[in-house]
Amino acid sequence: MIDPAVMIDAGGPVPAPALGVAAGSVDEGHRRAAAWPYAELDIAALRASGWRPTPVREFILKIHQRCNLACDYCYVYESADQSWRDRPAAMPVEVRQAAVAAIGTHVRRHELTRIRIVLHGGEPLLYGLDRIAALIAEVRAGVPATCAVEFGMQTNAVLLTAPALVRLRELGVVVGVSVDGVEADHDRHRVTRAGKGSFASVSRALGLLRSPEYQAVYGGLLCTVSPESDPIACYEQLLAFAPPLIDFLLPHANWAYPPSRPAGSPTAYADWLIAVFDRWYDAGGPMRVRIFEDVINLLLGGPSRSEQAGLSPAAICVVESDGALEQVDALKSTYAGACATGLNVLTDDLDRLLEHPGVIARQIGVQALSDDCLACPIHRVCGGGHYAHRYAPVTGFRNTSAYCADMQKLINYIWKRLDADVRRLAVWGKA
Ligand code: SF4
Repeated sequence: MIDPAVMIDAGGPVPAPALGVAAGSVDEGHRRAAAWPYAELDIAALRASGWRPTPVREFILKIHQRCNLACDYCYVYESADQSWRDRPAAMPVEVRQAAVAAIGTHVRRHELTRIRIVLHGGEPLLYGLDRIAALIAEVRAGVPATCAVEFGMQTNAVLLTAPALVRLRELGVVVGVSVDGVEADHDRHRVTRAGKGSFASVSRALGLLRSPEYQAVYGGLLCTVSPESDPIACYEQLLAFAPPLIDFLLPHANWAYPPSRPAGSPTAYADWLIAVFDRWYDAGGPMRVRIFEDVINLLLGGPSRSEQAGLSPAAICVVESDGALEQVDALKSTYAGACATGLNVLTDDLDRLLEHPGVIARQIGVQALSDDCLACPIHRVCGGGHYAHRYAPVTGFRNTSAYCADMQKLINYIWKRLDADVRRLAVWGKA
């Protein structure tokens, strides 16, 4: 529980206004770009009703701002938000140590027993393994022994060599790799600055990762859905890399930048995912697919574990390489400065983040949903979709998802398949 006296001043001045947000304050820019939550969320009423924030349990550290690839859909470099340009390429030691101290204080204050630290970028391996080792040693020394710390990393795998994997295994870091299916599909988007595809490098790294000696390091694969690609060929390619888990992500889109769809395919993303679902469900796995597991879990009354569906409170913060405390960087796909809070780990207590309207909006479940979503029969499963996908200029983040039709079709399809199996089992039970 946080001290109610610790209040955020989201109207405080920012040293360098993000591009696209008028000079003045983060709050001022937000209010113009997104009435909800910034002008409309009544935090005092929430508090009076007994609501309290959820402490942060996942800390995304942007240890390196640059990348050795130039993927065409990257929301860090290719979106309206260009804040990476004004930040140090590598997180300086004093920022790293301030971040670790803030995390330690947060863990002690909220008596957390488990947290997750995700090393992120840009490309986190550009930070160098010695600096990564120093960061991990600092976290282990700064967080009380009563709290288990998981370390994860999201990488494009270009620098993932055998010596790097040995070091990551020693450090206890679990690695997620971004790969978009078969070579032609992957190389259409995930290219070097010279325009050369990166599939060969990723494939080499995954060949190492899938070997028994590096199993402990292999966290899974992250694949961005592309309706241009063949879903089964994509799935089979990912299956060949033998990951323990696949995360399929919808490309970030919203009502200002709608999802790109083939003509005449209003639910192209759902159709793609349904084809993969059938293949996965009929085969009984063998690997885990997070979006399907989440939808099934939610349909059965459980909580969600990802940002793509459900209404569980988001307990995530981002520490940028200059120490800025931010909301999840998927919001960079909405408008410039959308992630900003005006707080910095060098000067502010991490608990001040829990009073920020943008952070609170991710923690209040159904109260963050639009009237259309509240009237929707599957809203507790869909949860309005990914928060970033609800954005519309001026009104902000209280809208249906730009992927609403896809979410409806996918969830209803999975429900029908699940329902048929449950009925079949019930008949067998009576026999
Ligand atoms: S399916 Fe559409 S209307 Fe229903 S909860 Fe999801 S985004 Fe909202």
